[in-house]
Amino acid sequence: MEYFRELGIITPILRAIEDEQFEKPTEIQEKSIPLILAGQDVIAGAATGSGKTLAFASGIIQNAERGEGIQALVLTPTRELAQQVATALADFSRYTPLKIVAVFGGVSINPQIEQLRYADVVIGTPGRILDHIGRRTIDLRRVNTLVLDEADRMLDMGFIDDVEQIIRKCPRERQTLLFSATISREVARLARKYMNEPVQVAAETYVDPKKLTQFYYDVPDNMKFSLLVHLLRHEKAGLVMVFCNTRKNTDFVANNLKAAGIDALAIHGGLTQDRRNKVMKQFHGQNVSVLVCTDVAARGLDIPGVSHIYNYDIPKDRNDYIHRIGRTARAGKEGRAINILASSDYDSFRRVMRLKDVTITEEKLPEVKKESIRWRERPKTVRPGHRAYRR
Ligand code: AMP
Repeated sequence: MEYFRELGIITPILRAIEDEQFEKPTEIQEKSIPLILAGQDVIAGAATGSGKTLAFASGIIQNAERGEGIQALVLTPTRELAQQVATALADFSRYTPLKIVAVFGGVSINPQIEQLRYADVVIGTPGRILDHIGRRTIDLRRVNTLVLDEADRMLDMGFIDDVEQIIRKCPRERQTLLFSATISREVARLARKYMNEPVQVAAETYVDPKKLTQFYYDVPDNMKFSLLVHLLRHEKAGLVMVFCNTRKNTDFVANNLKAAGIDALAIHGGLTQDRRNKVMKQFHGQNVSVLVCTDVAARGLDIPGVSHIYNYDIPKDRNDYIHRIGRTARAGKEGRAINILASSDYDSFRRVMRLKDVTITEEKLPEVKKESIRWRERPKTVRPGHRAYRR
């Protein structure tokens, strides 16, 4: 605990850290916590898995007092991340009781309205926070700490206007903390505009490059799915994430895996919040070992024990590649990232190959049995009178 104490963290939080059995601070915690506790604005280059939540949580918990109104606001790009951050904050503030409320879309707004009346700390997605602002059901006048978590992803997802509107509703006199895996030009612009002499720190991601092997298979277009099934059946794996670029492909892959007898679940932005929660619960409980997902849905999820990442589609944005592989080879464990390329992936893959520090070697195509595609998306219902209906 001495390491954490030296950073300036107060005793009740130290006790909670002890309960979590963390032995020493991660790099981002070591670099950012002293600055955060000193009240500085901080830009932290840190990805999921770096331990960033405890970094900003230690500042929030130290400064907030029960019953004094909303004193800290954390903006996150996704609902899952909002929930995850809320749970972590609740854990870390176990000995300093605070009312922590997560608000996000996809669920009923009324219970949130009630909870917001007593909240000390709010974690939310931009859309729903704006909704509450519009309804005057959230009072941000007492916010002294604003956290922009995964800022790059919030901007990628098109939340820039929402985020700026929310920032402008917070008091000028405040501490702003920005966490982002990549500090893009847009992120830097946001920081310049809304932060007060920020100090920038960065940490290597938790992923250990020595423990991560990356390779690719070049397959004929009609063999992508068959190769995936072959590899899932033959590679000894813990939890597996299969990434697709679209919701449609995510459903296609997950449903066909199930039809081929492989337990798989899909998670993407088109599902209801309730469904997304159920899927994550099953995956966390390790009842199902294959999660098929889009970048957006997977973003920020902290899932320990992922041994394999499959890129069923190569991401168009090469930053997504970095985020994807960052889900494995964490905390000293081995990880494998496997890219399945067909002709439509070549352009994207060329961009990925140009990334600094990324080495992906070609793997010889094994003998693969052709799998039949048993599940296809039902065509949209056609109204009577429509040409297609009449033929
Ligand atoms: P985060 O980057 O905040 O999503 O944290 C990633 C994971 O690292 C979470 O499961 C944390 O519980 C864990 N973690 C955070 N800080 C430490 C630490 N100092 N030592 C070990 N694990 C940690």
